[in-house]
Amino acid sequence: MSDSEYGVFTEEGCIEASLWSHANAEAVAELYREQAAEDDVEETYTVHEMCEEHRDAERPKGECDECEAQYND
Ligand SMILES: [Zn+2]
Repeated sequence: MSDSEYGVFTEEGCIEASLWSHANAEAVAELYREQAAEDDVEETYTVHEMCEEHRDAERPKGECDECEAQYND
């Protein structure tokens, strides 16, 4: 049982978090893609593992501004 958190992102940022499996997050992203296709909207939805240290920041793991601030002082 993994407790990794996943989120769905657009180029603008996180639109959906608290998804507790990659498959679940992909399923949610797929719903957004279908909706975007229906609405004829150009948007890219990607799934990323969330930074577990800074959940409030809703940043992907490895691309977290808070982590960068913390470690690149
Ligand atoms: Zn972080």
